[in-house]
Amino acid sequence: MASTTLNPLLDLGQLPRFDQIESAHVEPALRQVLAENRTELTRLLKQPAPGFASLIEPMEQMQHRLMRIWSPVSHLNAVANSEALRAVYNACLPLLTEYSTEIGQNEALYRAYVAISEDPAAQLDSTQRRLIDHALRDFRLAGVGLPLDRKERYKAIMQELATLQAKFEENVLDCMNAWSRVVTSTPELAGLPPHVVDRAREGAAARKIDGWLLALDQPTYVAVITHAENEALRREFYEAWQTRSAPGQQHAERWDNTALIESIVRLRHEAAGLIGFDNYAALSLATKMAKSVDEVLAFLGELADHCVPVARREFAKLAEFAGRPLNAWDIAFYSERLQQQLYHIADEELRPYFPLPKVLNGLFRVAERLYGIRIRERPGVPVWHPDARFFDVLGESGEIVGGFYLDACARPHKRNGAWMDECVGHKRMGGMTTTPVAYLVCNFTPPIAGRPSLLTHDDVLTLFHEFGHGLHHLLTTVPYPSLAGINGVPWDAVELPSQFMENFAWSPEVLGWISGHFETGEPLPAEKLERLLGTRTFLAGLQAVRQLEFALFDFRLHSEYQPERGSRASEIIAEVRARVSVVPHPPFNRFANSFTHIFSGGYAAGYYSYKWAEVLAADVFAAFEESGIFAEDVARRFLESILSQGGSRDALEAFIAFRGRKPDIRPLLKQSGIAA
Ligand code: ZN
Repeated sequence: MASTTLNPLLDLGQLPRFDQIESAHVEPALRQVLAENRTELTRLLKQPAPGFASLIEPMEQMQHRLMRIWSPVSHLNAVANSEALRAVYNACLPLLTEYSTEIGQNEALYRAYVAISEDPAAQLDSTQRRLIDHALRDFRLAGVGLPLDRKERYKAIMQELATLQAKFEENVLDCMNAWSRVVTSTPELAGLPPHVVDRAREGAAARKIDGWLLALDQPTYVAVITHAENEALRREFYEAWQTRSAPGQQHAERWDNTALIESIVRLRHEAAGLIGFDNYAALSLATKMAKSVDEVLAFLGELADHCVPVARREFAKLAEFAGRPLNAWDIAFYSERLQQQLYHIADEELRPYFPLPKVLNGLFRVAERLYGIRIRERPGVPVWHPDARFFDVLGESGEIVGGFYLDACARPHKRNGAWMDECVGHKRMGGMTTTPVAYLVCNFTPPIAGRPSLLTHDDVLTLFHEFGHGLHHLLTTVPYPSLAGINGVPWDAVELPSQFMENFAWSPEVLGWISGHFETGEPLPAEKLERLLGTRTFLAGLQAVRQLEFALFDFRLHSEYQPERGSRASEIIAEVRARVSVVPHPPFNRFANSFTHIFSGGYAAGYYSYKWAEVLAADVFAAFEESGIFAEDVARRFLESILSQGGSRDALEAFIAFRGRKPDIRPLLKQSGIAA
């Protein structure tokens, strides 16, 4: 039972009491803080002439407190899931949504922010001004300030979109769950990794059928398309995958997403118009670093000009290697074989050289050299599982500037993937500073039988990536939580610090620090290092044009919409493919019908962000390479102009302050071997 005296979630004097938090604490704590926030908001709005310090700072404090209480809950739901916790978590989500909608659409609050922004006596500094601009932008994007009929329509569209987008994803999942392929002869399975075959065997046994049952989940699809020697099996899987939720023979009609695509794009366009944008792409850019539709299209076009010829050559080379013309379902299979032939390298082969403790030491050394910090483990901090550890980040004079939890290895009841999340946000208001705390979570292979956890180089990249997000959160100096760390950073720029850090895991010098055979301590041998470095640019052109195809389709779909013509999704795909695609697409390919990133997820008119951030990260890293990757002045400039600035500064302006010019695509092209 929960203690009636003190709810540990409300104890904000220290790090979260992970040793005491129980699911019974969650809802009472959340309800209490939401009620207090509402009372406080009413009081704040009753003030005669509220200013920055008397209205906006308290709003920042309230939001900070709410996030501090909710953060351990959503974290536990991800890393130590239980039935009870999941139930309270799901029960609480609507309370949070309701609260944030209420704030976003609060007319009186909006008018108070407008009044402060227009008050000549307010004497706002640039960070405060930016905070207000962001807030006003978000109020407008929530439909505040619209005449009543348009406001109602806007709300109705948003609700309908939420439903349709969820339905789109459900259809894709249902369609995948319903499809499977039974294999009855061993030769058909040739090439498939043993763990996939084992799972297929279990799948068949569970349904009491003979043989193997291959499902259409992503790991199985990737395994079949990459490793199955049987071309007919690859083709079948390819067709099933590329026609998910599309009309045709393979899947049931009721999961067809064609009509949903039309409705979603139409409603997005209408919503954008209601709040004053020409189209949905323009609305999407309101919160991004890219300034205009034309700028994004020109960016993607310029990349295409460089990547398409390279991709063509790579495709021809691949066909030559295969000794026959290639179909779309052959690409992954022959790519894998060619890579094996050229570099003789399997990810597994490198594992013994990357024991987690060694990699962590090297990674910390990189951060310490770059930013003059020190990272020290602090034992005894309450955690959710004995595997989790806590580290303090110390500044130049030994003061604590932040801290992070690290939960590195996979285990049951823990969500897949890797991520960085905010535990405590940085703030400095009213003479009080709160230092930031992050969660770094990965799912590496756990230690077994006295061996440490051993990482592949891909795992190493993941760790460096998430640590880059962590440093963005921890080294911020912005006083207001809504602009500190990763908060308020545009979606197309927020991956800069993380992708930037990945570069260090490709540096031979750093590879020397992070590698050491777990038994002998021997660093990665030179010939293995050479081969590893060779894989970095392997078929980079083909990979790039695939991303460009998705990005161009997404962006054109949302920027060219005209109600009288409909979405023109098929025509746009055909045009985009004619421009950038190298692999022949069979006529049945209907990838848009399962493109959940843009029809259900947050990437609508934003898929280009992947490439955009890659360009920024490569260009920043090039500045380091020009002066030696640990050049103190370059690192300091990066910290001061970008990394510590969070969302307090226009992202392009910050970039120019660091680089002395606008971003250039050439460093990325060079890094991926597309341009010499
Ligand atoms: Zn990331």
